[in-house]
Amino acid sequence: MKFGTKAIHAGVDPDSATGAIMTPIYQTSTFVQDGVGNHKGYKYSRTQNPTRHVLEKSLAALENGKYGACFASGIAAIDAVLKMLNPGDEVISTNDLYGGSYRLFRTIFEKYGIKFNFIDMRNESLVREAVNDRTKLIWAETPTNPMINVVDIKAMSTIAKNVNALLCVDNTFATPYLQNPLELGADIVMHSVTKYLGGHSDVVMGALITSNDQIASEIYRIQNSSGAITSPMDSFLVLRGIKTLHLRMQRHCENGEKVARFLRSHPRIERVFWPGFEDHPNHDIACKQMRGFGGMISFSLKENDKVRALEILKKVKLFALAESLGGVESLIGHPATMTHATIPKKDREECGIVDSLIRLSVGVEDVRDLLADLDQSL
Ligand SMILES: *Cc1c(COP(=O)(O)O)cnc(C)c1O
Repeated sequence: MKFGTKAIHAGVDPDSATGAIMTPIYQTSTFVQDGVGNHKGYKYSRTQNPTRHVLEKSLAALENGKYGACFASGIAAIDAVLKMLNPGDEVISTNDLYGGSYRLFRTIFEKYGIKFNFIDMRNESLVREAVNDRTKLIWAETPTNPMINVVDIKAMSTIAKNVNALLCVDNTFATPYLQNPLELGADIVMHSVTKYLGGHSDVVMGALITSNDQIASEIYRIQNSSGAITSPMDSFLVLRGIKTLHLRMQRHCENGEKVARFLRSHPRIERVFWPGFEDHPNHDIACKQMRGFGGMISFSLKENDKVRALEILKKVKLFALAESLGGVESLIGHPATMTHATIPKKDREECGIVDSLIRLSVGVEDVRDLLADLDQSL
């Protein structure tokens, strides 16, 4: 099945009880059993719920994986992966990581004796040097947030396999429409479903996908034991969102390219970060592992000044000033004071998150209106 057909049909069958073409919202906590141990596959909605189950199958199909598991947020999904580790284990992670992942690693899991090493994953040899026999997980994010760096998933997978560590890829920015990490050797794919998969800025959710039986049973055990599950209503909303994922992503990519090129030609702008540019440092890797370049763009100003950056954020009319990304509407944000404020300034600037850096999530509006809005605000 091709991607656009899978987005609409995969994992989703008409409801067996009624024939409803849309998966019903099974808003129930429990399921009546005919006799002890004699049930229809569902016992209690923390363990599994029919609406969530269909969504998990749909997400697994989109990533060409065998198993999907949905969580109350992207962070809850990451939390579940980290709970597979033991005290003394080490994790190698990218240094321009999503701020919330960084906070989870440093302020929650470090306390339990897990050690984190944040390095520039664009440089394969740095990762090779950093792994050792205590390394149990390589946590990659690509493209990264907010510097839109690209990490070579295949290379990370080779390094992980050499030391028997798991490779988990946060595929939130690319979505399965643009990139399938499992096919490039990742063991687990993670999504903040909140973003492009949901696509309509109305749900907070996370997901993990894997093809490995043993990893899947660990994930389901943690999902049920820790209990950070998603609701039937939210599962329904995401099932609805996924039906247009391919259409939305196509437009996000088209609009993204036009906005990136416009910004690059603007006299006030210093640099534009978008993997579709031939001179993007990892353009060749992006071409190898992605089917398009997405709608996430960051840029810095020639006057590297926070006040000037904040003025632009204030002047935009159509771009909404907000955290998050991946919805149909265009958003604008200032990583240094918003999404990445928890990262110390020195560490932040080392990986390029300067005071004038502005991040755009280019939506699916008419691009002429988006360009006009950026033009007037600049
Ligand atoms: C938003 C985001 C997360 C966290 O997901 P939530 O749904 O907000 O918990 C993780 N990784 C990336 C890349 C994100 O953009």
